Amino acid sequence: MQPMTFRFPVSSRFGDEPADPVGDLFSVLSRGDIISFAGGIPDGALFDVDPIRDSFEFVLGRHARRALQYGATPGEPELRAAAAALVSRHLPTAPEDILVTSGSQEGIYLSAQALLSPGDVVLVEEPTYLAAVQAFSLNGAKLVGVAADAEGMLPEALDEAIAEHAPRFVYLIPTFANPSGKTMGRRRREAIAEILLRAQVALVEDDPYGQLRFSGEPVPPIASLPGMAEQTILLNSMSKVMAPGLRIGWMRVQGPLKQILGIAKSAVTLQSPALNQLAIAHYLTHHDLDAHIARVVGPYRERRDALHAGLLAILPATATVTRPDGGMFCWVTLGDDTDTARLLPVAVEEGVAFVPGWSFYASDPDRSTMRLSYATNSPDTIAEGLGRLAAALGR
Ligand code: PMP
Repeated sequence: MQPMTFRFPVSSRFGDEPADPVGDLFSVLSRGDIISFAGGIPDGALFDVDPIRDSFEFVLGRHARRALQYGATPGEPELRAAAAALVSRHLPTAPEDILVTSGSQEGIYLSAQALLSPGDVVLVEEPTYLAAVQAFSLNGAKLVGVAADAEGMLPEALDEAIAEHAPRFVYLIPTFANPSGKTMGRRRREAIAEILLRAQVALVEDDPYGQLRFSGEPVPPIASLPGMAEQTILLNSMSKVMAPGLRIGWMRVQGPLKQILGIAKSAVTLQSPALNQLAIAHYLTHHDLDAHIARVVGPYRERRDALHAGLLAILPATATVTRPDGGMFCWVTLGDDTDTARLLPVAVEEGVAFVPGWSFYASDPDRSTMRLSYATNSPDTIAEGLGRLAAALGR
């Protein structure tokens, strides 16, 4: 990364040496000959383009002036109603409890704005989603990592961390987490909920991947467990199941927090794009999102299998690899003294890339970890990329 020099002072929020590990990585990936397992993006070839085009044409044909005008901060009524119907599959939700956002990333940022004062502690699972850590840090949070096992955050460790740090909220991705691919089972969710209810600590439950399930049984969101709806901001997104370029997601939140979030949202974006909202609302009511998801999960399952089995075949015996039932990521722990940040340039020389795991930790990184996405490569390309990774590992 180039050192940053400014002619004028910039905010102290960014620290003396702002690090942008993912931005740095993506500049390397512009080299066309690299097989990348680095990005966490859906496969554009699988987008439901024709029905999306039809939805935009319908909105521009019938409601052009409204779609091109300013709209209400919490979102267009049609989309709030369609989103409430989707969330109500797990948790009864009124359209008034939906605040439309520009992707769940905005939901993460607005949650931080609404809940945090400078110096407040946010508890996150180790490892966790990097851009959430950035959003919390920019809002003055002190991040504290909580230990996890194969199912995610450990209830005992959460209990201890709450007693020690009096956090303002806990941030979790309980289903197909980024970066780990892990999913919390129902029992674990109940144990976490019980602790949060007892301690009266809020939960920001980030669920952009939950609908992208290709094996195993669905697990309801923590927000739907008894008592938790009042204490949780649930974040959903159309990015992974429909198209991230639309930049539409929503927060499911009830009670007086809605007002604060509305103030925060109008200070940042006023509203999310009305045209996209109305087109998505039309898509959700006149086309078949479930059928689309059912079509895309087949290829994702094949790619997960190719990446997971292929990794097991090339990695040392000390390594562990997660095998997610959905979402986009396998998480590798080499479990030896390899530093994957040092391995990456060697891998890029061989023509393959991944994200070194250290950047996903709030406190104490395991430097032998890495995140690999299977979402955008065919099984054959995955096999070729793993051959290159094996070469980089000297295997
Ligand atoms: N949360 C998680 C866990 C993610 O992985 C992502 C995307 N990488 C987001 C939120 C943000 O997604 P979007 O804003 O496109 O909904």
